[in-house]
Amino acid sequence: MGNEPVQTNPVLEVRQLIVDYVSTTGLVHAVDNISCTIQRGEIFGLAGESGSGKSTLAFAIARLLKFPAQIAQGEILYYPRDGARPINILELGPRALRQFRWSELAIVFQSAMNALNPVMDIATQIDDVIRAHDPHMSRAQRRDRAAELMRLVGIAPDRLRSFPHQLSGGMRQRAVIALALALHPDLIIMDEPTTALDVVVQREILNEVRALQQHMGFAVIFITHDLSLLLEISQHLAIMYAGRMVELAPQAALFTQPLHPYAYGLLHAFPSLYGARKVMLGIPGHPPDLRQLPAGCPFAPRCAWAFGACRSITPRLRQPDPAVSERQVACHLYDPAHHPAPPPASVDPALAAGDLLAADHLLDTAAPHPTRLEPIS
Ligand code: SF4
Repeated sequence: MGNEPVQTNPVLEVRQLIVDYVSTTGLVHAVDNISCTIQRGEIFGLAGESGSGKSTLAFAIARLLKFPAQIAQGEILYYPRDGARPINILELGPRALRQFRWSELAIVFQSAMNALNPVMDIATQIDDVIRAHDPHMSRAQRRDRAAELMRLVGIAPDRLRSFPHQLSGGMRQRAVIALALALHPDLIIMDEPTTALDVVVQREILNEVRALQQHMGFAVIFITHDLSLLLEISQHLAIMYAGRMVELAPQAALFTQPLHPYAYGLLHAFPSLYGARKVMLGIPGHPPDLRQLPAGCPFAPRCAWAFGACRSITPRLRQPDPAVSERQVACHLYDPAHHPAPPPASVDPALAAGDLLAADHLLDTAAPHPTRLEPIS
């Protein structure tokens, strides 16, 4: 990562978004003041444990939230491909929103069975989407387009007349991806799209998504709790915890040098395929109850590096290095106002070698620098 200015060509920008759930005890911030930018044509990974707010953020972007969820603050700007002024998705009226979905933004959910209509065959469902958005297309053109979409996702077009229950789990998920591609959207949100599938089918579908994304140029927000998967397919990653973004980084930077202790813990929570077997470190404790967040940093009760300021002051996402705008972290270890040590500067060579387990030595050496993420006693 150098200090050169980063070339940007955004397709979506989320600005200071807050989403609350109305509960009997008051408002709960499920998404708490999140800002991020998705570049045109990239895969942007969103990782975090269950309840971290990643799906709520995705639903907010697609304007799919229903009561008791409500957007309390923020803007979600979509940048049209023709270079026109950005559109604030939160200000779209019902008709404009219907047009916007599918043609500019599509969403692929975890459960294809829930996303597909069980009493309509796949051909009819694809035809409905195309006809609603492009009434000038003839029936024959729509039929050809449906067949082309099926081929794109690796299903023989003769399965178009199948009902969802007649397809395997992998084929259903492919059919949902075909639906999402129907109108050439610029951005597709994929919310745990392969979680319910076995690893072989998961791998096939991921390879297809990557090939389609490179071929068609759409951007993807890929949501999963599986950080190892995101490291493989994403260009940028965001780590969420307790409704907040705690680290935002290019894929290689997060892999080689995670800054936030939670990101560090996630990276050490899955085994390497190579090298000696080791005990996984894991992350002690549980995610916090959003109705009763601890004072200060919400990760403090689980954090081995917590110190005084962590228990009273909430860290905000900021650039540890002002010259590198792509890298942000919400942790006092990297804020000179709270932690006097210099911010992390270099990639650890052992990590750069590509074996995450090599990072275990970081816990065994006594180094005061937060790059080492040594527990602070
Ligand atoms: Fe939070 Fe402090 Fe741990 Fe950083 S060091 S993650 S601010 S508890």
